Amino acid sequence: MEELLRLVGLEATGPDLFLDAREFPLRVPHSFIRRMETGNRNDPLLRQVLPAHEEWHEISGFRQDPLGEREVMSTPGLLHKYNGRALLTLTGACAVHCRYCFRRHFPYSEANPAGAHLDTALAYLERHEEITEVILSGGDPLALPDDRLGELARRLAAIPHVRTLRIHSRLPVVLPERIDDVLLAWLGNHPQRMVLVVHCNHPNEIDAEVTGGMHKLKQSGVTLLNQAVLLKGINDDAGTLARLSEKLFEAGILPYYLHQLDRVQGSAHFEVNDSAACKLMDHLHATLPGYLIPRLARETPGARGKHWLWPDRHG
Ligand code: SF4
Repeated sequence: MEELLRLVGLEATGPDLFLDAREFPLRVPHSFIRRMETGNRNDPLLRQVLPAHEEWHEISGFRQDPLGEREVMSTPGLLHKYNGRALLTLTGACAVHCRYCFRRHFPYSEANPAGAHLDTALAYLERHEEITEVILSGGDPLALPDDRLGELARRLAAIPHVRTLRIHSRLPVVLPERIDDVLLAWLGNHPQRMVLVVHCNHPNEIDAEVTGGMHKLKQSGVTLLNQAVLLKGINDDAGTLARLSEKLFEAGILPYYLHQLDRVQGSAHFEVNDSAACKLMDHLHATLPGYLIPRLARETPGARGKHWLWPDRHG
């Protein structure tokens, strides 16, 4: 924490410095730090990664497993929650630790489709012909080495009813140097439809290097979408969200979801209430073309799909 504060030109003082964040330690790539504003303790990128004492407040309704994912785990590391799709939590590794992460308490060491668990997960996918799309998630699946990803993708491509491979990753945003020729060749040559859903919350996260990497991904034939999380003090104003949509579009990415926060223990200070969130969506609706307006959604444990909060709530 001291090193990060020093790099962004802030005094390394204050009660937060003495926090014990060992369970979910601070992690952030240098290229992401370079996008933070020097001397601004409220910088929206800094606030997403800097541990805060509020994380240790016990708030009712905020749980370790806010989406009840352990109940929908069909085999270790395979979540079959929605009809037609299944998700693999491939790794707990990420390039960045987002303080609001809903999987910050996820038991990756046992819920991981590696080794013998991978055979079990693939056998499940083969048996369930209704699954046409497999989502690689984590953690961050692109934190895995290319050879392991390539081997997994080859085995998934051999399942005839799986037609789409979707990757959920924050790496192309926080560590754009990950988009190298090896990865591009792998993505571009994969026989199934390939969708990459990136995770970007603020327009300042998108610089020229990120845009360049996204254009390369687009040229390799990948469909690019973004999911953001609505976060108090970070992106909960209409101007910021409108700029985010525009910058995503310049980078070749369509806004897909704006998620209401999943109520994970330690994240309550980031929550925006539904009524304020819907007002923000009304502003976006008045400003942006429809294709730049993300769906405001919430995930609820046990539901068979995401709940759209806007425009449903306002009719
Ligand atoms: S990159 Fe994604 S999985 Fe990793 S900490 Fe951030 S939100 Fe969680």
